Amino acid sequence: MRPFKSTISIEEARERLRTGVRPIARTEELPIGAAAGRVAAADLASTLFVPPFSRSAMDGYAVLAEDTRGASRERPARLRIVERVYTGAPPQHGVTPGACAEIATGAPLPEGADAVIMVEETARVDHDHVAICAEGRPGQNIGRKGADIAPGDIVVRRGDLLNPSRLGALAAVGCAHVEVFARPRVAILSTGNEVIEPGTPLGPGQIYDVNRFTLSAVVEAQGGIAEMHTPARDTLEALNEALDACAQADVIIFSGGSSVGDRDLLVDLVATRGQMIFHGVAVRPGKPTMFARVGDTPFFGMPGNPTSCLSNAYILLVPFLRATARLPLYAPRTVSATLGRTIVSPANRHQFYTVTLHGTVALPAFKGSGDITSLSQADGYIEIPASEHTVEEGSSVEVTLF
Ligand code: AMP
Ligand code: MG
Repeated sequence: MRPFKSTISIEEARERLRTGVRPIARTEELPIGAAAGRVAAADLASTLFVPPFSRSAMDGYAVLAEDTRGASRERPARLRIVERVYTGAPPQHGVTPGACAEIATGAPLPEGADAVIMVEETARVDHDHVAICAEGRPGQNIGRKGADIAPGDIVVRRGDLLNPSRLGALAAVGCAHVEVFARPRVAILSTGNEVIEPGTPLGPGQIYDVNRFTLSAVVEAQGGIAEMHTPARDTLEALNEALDACAQADVIIFSGGSSVGDRDLLVDLVATRGQMIFHGVAVRPGKPTMFARVGDTPFFGMPGNPTSCLSNAYILLVPFLRATARLPLYAPRTVSATLGRTIVSPANRHQFYTVTLHGTVALPAFKGSGDITSLSQADGYIEIPASEHTVEEGSSVEVTLF
């Protein structure tokens, strides 16, 4: 055994992680239909006008505003209809004094017309004539060419998250493909002689690999590509081989073997092949967590206990991953609740405490750091800062929802 000499605070761990982020530099080109949630890698300037032509914003009549001056229900202006303009084809005639064109929403405005009177403010006289019952202002109900976007306008900037509206802006300027930052490749590997893959019968002393699946789900949900590896045994040789197998990844996450037991070899592994940035964080659960750099690759050594592993994935790994993927800060959903039972938290440890919600009352769901149901049967968690020792029944708490 090599007990922890010291731990660092969660704030310090977060700070060192922030400093350790290398935002992904690789890019790839994607069809815009496959780019939702990705991050633009370059500014994109429009080469055209949007709308590409002046168009009607209403179903009605394209007129010369001048011809409608003083028009009202009582004294309508009578105009001759010279054509009917629908969407998708250019008008054949212009509009001259005394004339107008029936026009559909989105159809190109005929030459000469400078206003559209909505159909509700007109009355048809006969097949070729319409009574205009309201005055039109120049420009009224017209979407001018280029009013939305002009050539040279930047529609999406490098670093912008491609949300639905930005994908819409790319489509509007005719952009079929977009250059985005690659999703970071994250190698995930569980360690432990006892850990085997689900799908095979358990032998004596064996357990199924849980962390690989919880971590991959987190990675995939937070902008990464999870690369799952088979569990490695607790020997330096096996761990070295496992680490070699992860060489192509942008981030490596091992779980298990990160504590201080004789078989916890990750410290030795990092000592020979990398540089430790921290080992031991004052959180509960999840103290035996390490962050290192192996070669140029960030390396996480997560605790083997499934709850510790996953809770630290939420509070430490997620912000790191999102920054690596260049995604905006994660804003999980939170609700306010009243604590239904007093919680005693260990002194000087930041606690991640799972709860179930019953209306507005939060009850403890935490069983033990080895119990995955501490999380799987909870609705969310509260965080109790290291400076707080007890949170009294009846106090108001902020629950972060899973
Ligand atoms: P360790 O961090 O390796 O000391 O493991 C702590 C506890 O977590 C032990 O009971 C392990 O058997 C268990 N454990 C380690 N890795 C995993 C895993 N991938 N899935 C489920 N349990 C694990
Ligand atoms: Mg182990």
